[in-house]
Amino acid sequence: MEFFDKLGKKASEAYKVTADKTGKIAKETKLKFKIGELRTQINDLYEEIGKKVYEKHVREEEISIKKDLEEQCTKIDVLSDEIDDLLKQCLALKDKKQCQKCYKEIDKEDKFCPNCGERQNNEPAKEVEILDNLKNTQVKEDKEAQKQIVIEELEQDIQEKEENQEEKSNLEKTVEIESNVESEENEEE
Ligand SMILES: [Zn+2]
Repeated sequence: MEFFDKLGKKASEAYKVTADKTGKIAKETKLKFKIGELRTQINDLYEEIGKKVYEKHVREEEISIKKDLEEQCTKIDVLSDEIDDLLKQCLALKDKKQCQKCYKEIDKEDKFCPNCGERQNNEPAKEVEILDNLKNTQVKEDKEAQKQIVIEELEQDIQEKEENQEEKSNLEKTVEIESNVESEENEEE
């Protein structure tokens, strides 16, 4: 009987892991799709810039980045930042992050980069910052409902993160206590 109990437990654990993995893969696929879309937009902007430069060449005119290409360049800056953010989300799904100095993919829990040795600081909670900005932003009446939805989503995200943090620090404490017990036992021997 016990054997089947264990078997059942193992099977449901395996299911949990698989379901979790499938969810992560779906999320990663979505993120990668978005990244692809943004890259296409950037390529379109590159094309626009190229055309403008060539037109200037045909007309034998000077081109100024500030005057002629500012709009496209700013758009690319914004899109690149978005891609950066999505890539970070992709890494987080795999429990990875980027080293702040050498940008190598490292473990999320690494306090020092195994590649270059750089100390990793915890990132400030970006959502909190965005939430504050959003709350202080005036929007048109017809956008108010949309704003409220985004605010609620952000608040949920922040809460989830805080709960995860708490869980993790509890786990760390447990591990610490267990290792203390172990060393005490060793001393007695
Ligand atoms: Zn590094």
